[in-house]
Amino acid sequence: MNAESKVTAEHLKRWAYLYIRQSTLRQVLENTESTQRQYALRQRAVTMGWPEDRIVVIDHDQGQSGASSVDREGFQRLVAEVGLGKAGIVMGLEVSRLARNCADWHRLLEICALTHTLILDEDGLYDPGHFNDRLLLGLKGTMSEAELHVLKARLLGGIISKAQRAELKLPLPVGLVYDHEQKVVLDPDQQVQNSLRHLFATFARSGSAWGTVRAFGREGVKFPRRGQAGAGELTWCELTNAVVLATLHNPRYAGVFCFGRSRTWRDAEGQRHCDRVPRYQWRFVQKDAHPGYLSWEQYEANQAQLLSNQQAHGGGERKAGGVAREGPALLQGLVLCGKCGRSMTLRYHQRAGRLTPDYVCAKTAIEKTEPVCQSIPGGGVDDAVGKLLVESVTPLALEVALNVQQELQARLDEADRLRQQHVQRAQYEADQARVRYMRVDPNNRLVADTLETQWNDKLRLLAQAKEECEKQRRLDAQRLTDEQKAQILALASDFPKMWKDPNTPDRDRKRMARLLLEDVTLRREREVIVQVRFKGGATRELQLPLPKPVWALRLTTSEVMATIDQLLGERTPSEIANLLNQRQCRSAWGCAFTQRIVVRLAKNYNLPTRDTRLRARGLLTPQEIAALIDSKPGLVDYWREQGLLNGVRRNEKNEYYYERPSPETVQQIIQRRQPLPVQPLS
Ligand SMILES: [Zn+2]
Repeated sequence: MNAESKVTAEHLKRWAYLYIRQSTLRQVLENTESTQRQYALRQRAVTMGWPEDRIVVIDHDQGQSGASSVDREGFQRLVAEVGLGKAGIVMGLEVSRLARNCADWHRLLEICALTHTLILDEDGLYDPGHFNDRLLLGLKGTMSEAELHVLKARLLGGIISKAQRAELKLPLPVGLVYDHEQKVVLDPDQQVQNSLRHLFATFARSGSAWGTVRAFGREGVKFPRRGQAGAGELTWCELTNAVVLATLHNPRYAGVFCFGRSRTWRDAEGQRHCDRVPRYQWRFVQKDAHPGYLSWEQYEANQAQLLSNQQAHGGGERKAGGVAREGPALLQGLVLCGKCGRSMTLRYHQRAGRLTPDYVCAKTAIEKTEPVCQSIPGGGVDDAVGKLLVESVTPLALEVALNVQQELQARLDEADRLRQQHVQRAQYEADQARVRYMRVDPNNRLVADTLETQWNDKLRLLAQAKEECEKQRRLDAQRLTDEQKAQILALASDFPKMWKDPNTPDRDRKRMARLLLEDVTLRREREVIVQVRFKGGATRELQLPLPKPVWALRLTTSEVMATIDQLLGERTPSEIANLLNQRQCRSAWGCAFTQRIVVRLAKNYNLPTRDTRLRARGLLTPQEIAALIDSKPGLVDYWREQGLLNGVRRNEKNEYYYERPSPETVQQIIQRRQPLPVQPLS
């Protein structure tokens, strides 16, 4: 069957659709050749008998990839029209590239077969209703998808092999640039370099990204930025938290080439997503690949610091803080949960007539009706932290702090130099603007006016920079006088006195704690782990025993129990009670011992009873003695009183156990028991 004979009158009654697509915008702009070829197909349709006005061109999808039908309005419209039976023929340049996804392609073939729609490309005319044509088209689709795959693999392979050699040219962060040999070097601009060094040094000092932002703000130092993936113009902006984080997280500043820090993927709806990849999954990491601003060890330390900051704030949640309120809990508003990182709240309860705080992490418990994360009795923690504060605020410690302060003052010179450089730059730009203005022909008013405005702007910026620089310098110059230092040192000796004074209100004590402490993290394990973070970043860890539960507080001491255990064999319970009272021992409830208490304690602690102990020593009961001497148990006491039997008191009720009498004694008793022979009356 030749090609033209496949076209029937039925086909010619319907419309012809020409589908035009270029997968990227660049192809749309540059590859006009293929667009012309696609329009040439239109001529083929006309020769086959379709009138010019029944040919519909679908070109909505210019610049869309054929990898999926999602987002390709034109392709979807084409499928819809074919499905409605409106199309007599579908035309495209290499039709299999209509859809480079087998599922989309086979669906189109299926629908074409059902609606008797022909398919035309540069190679020929196909009728999907015929098995052979359909087989060919199916193969073409599969080949086309494979072609795309191979293409991608080749591109990716090229990228990866370049990345393996650390030669892949990736956009660089500000502070690093490519030189003329395409090698990564530090930005030759000294001000940019110094700003980055200043950022890393400030972070090392303050230990937090916010601290760094605040320090830059305070010092009035700006941070450089380059647009267009690092290749654009240099601008100077206020430092933001996001920039600090991005800078600290970027391994390139540590001289490390890495590839695969993020991953892009498409969801079911064709939306593109970009995810950060954890560090251990990065594809390539090559240390010492180029010069950097800090060492790999410093980079790792910064990451660890950021992570611990994040945990301390519960993954970005800011702590409550707030003002000092009434109530004795010293650490109100300063406590963070060591398990989940949220701030812990307070609960007071009465214990021994005074308010005692508990620190409770109950946020999720309240929001999601889950069990309380952890609850820690606060009394011991407050006392320990208070003691730590008194120990820390000593004249010696303050002296050290003042010295550190002095050194920090010295570092201010660094910030001053950066500001100076900023003034220099502004001066240079103003000079340039002036030169440009002077060169222009003054009669060329249009250009001269613009240049004059620019010159004015630059002059204004210069004045601003100078003013800022002066202001900061005046602030920095406010160094401590010797008199002020003496006052501060005097405070240090007053501090413990004031802290311990019972007349100092709780609220003032709390205020003092807030001046000294950043936060306190509590974690309840076998003991309470208290991590105290001072203002300025110093940390201390305390381990406090968990306070005893109520029942444990009402516990008889082990010494008393040992005494009872030891004496039970020798003495009766009331004798033991007397002895303990003589030794000034008190029961767990603080009262004197009695016989009842001793018996109850012995029972509760599972001590062997006095009876058991006596029997274990081989002592006999009155019944056993009675059997021995052939008498009644009630009479045994009589023989003891007569001094013939040795008895040991069992208790206060005059009950006795007896030592086994010797055979002679038994004989003696039996004899004495015999009634005296009756003398014959004579
Ligand atoms: Zn918690």
